Amino acid sequence: MFDVVIIGAGPAGLTAGIYTSRGGLKTGIVELAMPGGQAASTEKIENYPGFPEGVNGYELMNAFHQQALSFGAEFIFEEVQTFDLKDPVKKIQTESRVLEARSIIIAAGSKPRLLGVPGEEFFKGRGVSYCATCDGAFFKGKKVAVIGGGDAALEEGVYLTRFAEEVIIIHRREGFRASQIAVNRAKENPKIRFELNCVVEEILGSDYVEGVRVRNVLDSTKREIPAAGVFIYVGTDPNAQFIHGEIKTDERGYIYTNQYLQTNIEGVYAAGDIRDTPLRQVATAVGDGALAAAEVEKYLSGTPNS
Ligand code: NAP
Repeated sequence: MFDVVIIGAGPAGLTAGIYTSRGGLKTGIVELAMPGGQAASTEKIENYPGFPEGVNGYELMNAFHQQALSFGAEFIFEEVQTFDLKDPVKKIQTESRVLEARSIIIAAGSKPRLLGVPGEEFFKGRGVSYCATCDGAFFKGKKVAVIGGGDAALEEGVYLTRFAEEVIIIHRREGFRASQIAVNRAKENPKIRFELNCVVEEILGSDYVEGVRVRNVLDSTKREIPAAGVFIYVGTDPNAQFIHGEIKTDERGYIYTNQYLQTNIEGVYAAGDIRDTPLRQVATAVGDGALAAAEVEKYLSGTPNS
């Protein structure tokens, strides 16, 4: 029996695990892939305090992981399939076992959203990617398209100029959702070209990606833009596939919490990107993880805030 099971080992889950295991709670952290979540595949994180030169996402997350291990958190590398939350002892079903816990912190994060156009599925791994850090080096000296106008699209677009001959950022409107610093850096980069007011209708190619067909939303004209790679950064969706109705979420599946990060179910908390939150960054995930852990400690000692 665990005092707390944390679902997800991204920055929120690892921080929660550092706090709860350091606080003497028997802590299990269930993770499907490698620890670190999306942050671990970020080449450089510049806005996490304490690193004036920026820090590699994998290195930062590895340090979080080591710190959780040092306080005795137990990692279970399996997928959570479902859970039963109605009793004080919660049950979490993974692929091979049932974990029992007196409390749960859901910190399963989010994943890249699909663009949903013809060709996307077929060309996955054949030129379509959602991770510049993982796949950028395959496109040395080639043209690549980046879809989206948020921080991820602009920052990863700049990163891809290390390899690509040209990076074409295709965005559906004139203004950007990204921060001004990310926009400025992309605009100042001579290898970046913008195609604004354009939506991608199809990803084209035979065996591998050869380009995209775009439609200009202002005049409805269509044309083809040649590119060997298509990097899709059109936002994220919560990793909520194991939540089947017990926990209240918004229409996209992000979990509602109160100010103490408690969900609608007693003893169940949510932290980080999976939560209905206005900001999804490593720094906010860390804050969430710390608060959720502190609230779990209070809940288990019979003095919950809510
Ligand atoms: P995001 O901020 O939600 O931006 C998604 C972008 O994709 C928007 O520009 C959106 O266009 C566009 N888009 C959405 N659906 C589309 C579609 N079907 N077709 C074409 N374009 C579409 O997502 P994100 O950039 O992945 O970032 C996710 C979160 O992580 C954000 O909170 C972001 O600030 C954070 N983040 C932060 C950093 C950093 O601080 N360094 C780095 C990366 C990510 P519209 O603008 O027209 O809606």
